[in-house]
Amino acid sequence: MAISKSLDFVDKSFLLHILRSPKGWTGPKKVDDKEERLRAAFMNFDYDLLIIGAGSAGLAAAKRATSYGVHVGIAEQADVGGACINYGCIPEKLMAYAANFSSLFSNAISYGWSEFHSSFDWSKFIAAKDQKVEQIHQLHIKYLKESGVDFIRGRASFVDAHTLDIDGKQITADTILIAVGAQPFKPNIPGIEHTITPKELFQMKTLPKHIAIIGGDYYELVPISVSCIPEAATVGLTEAQALEKFGKSVQCYREKFQPLFYSLNGQDEKTLIKLVVEGKSERVLGAHMVGESASEIIQSIAVAIKLGATKNDFDNNIGIHPSSAEEIFSL
Ligand SMILES: Cc1cc2nc3c(=O)[nH]c(=O)nc-3n(C[C@H](O)[C@H](O)[C@H](O)COP(=O)(O)OP(=O)(O)OC[C@H]3O[C@@H](n4cnc5c(N)ncnc54)[C@H](O)[C@@H]3O)c2cc1C
Repeated sequence: MAISKSLDFVDKSFLLHILRSPKGWTGPKKVDDKEERLRAAFMNFDYDLLIIGAGSAGLAAAKRATSYGVHVGIAEQADVGGACINYGCIPEKLMAYAANFSSLFSNAISYGWSEFHSSFDWSKFIAAKDQKVEQIHQLHIKYLKESGVDFIRGRASFVDAHTLDIDGKQITADTILIAVGAQPFKPNIPGIEHTITPKELFQMKTLPKHIAIIGGDYYELVPISVSCIPEAATVGLTEAQALEKFGKSVQCYREKFQPLFYSLNGQDEKTLIKLVVEGKSERVLGAHMVGESASEIIQSIAVAIKLGATKNDFDNNIGIHPSSAEEIFSL
């Protein structure tokens, strides 16, 4: 029987309830349904938990479940790591780092470095990126193995509520978690057949000279960043969203300044910081930044916003000088 001996039955029911709940964690309830208890106790499933999709969500669930002693299998039709590792966060950030060198090289001269010439080789970058991605694949596979999670390669489809067909093989589980992520949506507009998605971007043989991006996404108290140059990052409400929700009491504070780094070569590079504040309570509703280290700075500010910090709380802080982040405390 797949049920781990290290857990008593109540603990297991407790965990499975959490995993089954459509809203995720809904509080410390226990599964009291007698029929459910009997079925779970006497059915001989291959796994306690079978996860479809080894992306960020599936891997996190597997990690948490095994820490409770649950017997887990995870099915993946493509490479482990999902969008984040294979064509999302990691390749995207590496690409932004690669692009950033251009500005660093040109600034180096104004800091006393001698002039030199360098050029960018897309295929070398892609090879280095692929090597890093493969290293992360291996780390995940090693981790799953060491944690006792079976990594099952193949496309899963449901046979019934407790059975998956994974490339022709039927595998059963007490609980099946669907963590299949999302697919890029291509709108039905003329010329759409010429477009690519991030999946194809990182497979391109040559670097495109220009690209236009359609689409984007924006979640409220989740800080997000855009890996571009200069970097952009945001958390909370935009000015327009705040006005819609709180009306005219909304106040915005902004500052545009030249970061110290660019001051030696006189480059017209600016950083923009903006706070959106609800006027009556002075509560900070959103923070937005375009400029160097924006993602590092905004994710720290997110904590303060989540805790309900006011503009006054920001003003009472003393920033680290000289830094870009200090400007947030003197808007
Ligand atoms: C270009 C890009 C950049 C991004 N940048 C960032 C960023 O900087 N920061 C950030 O936080 N987030 C970023 N994201 C978002 C992040 O990648 C996703 O939020 C995250 O990958 C979602 O994880 P997931 O596990 O839900 O889904 P996925 O990562 O999509 O994983 C789902 C997995 O399920 C597998 N699967 C699907 N159906 C089946 C099936 N029937 N059988 C077996 N396996 C199946 C898929 O192959 C896939 O591996 C980015 C996304 C993209 C596309």
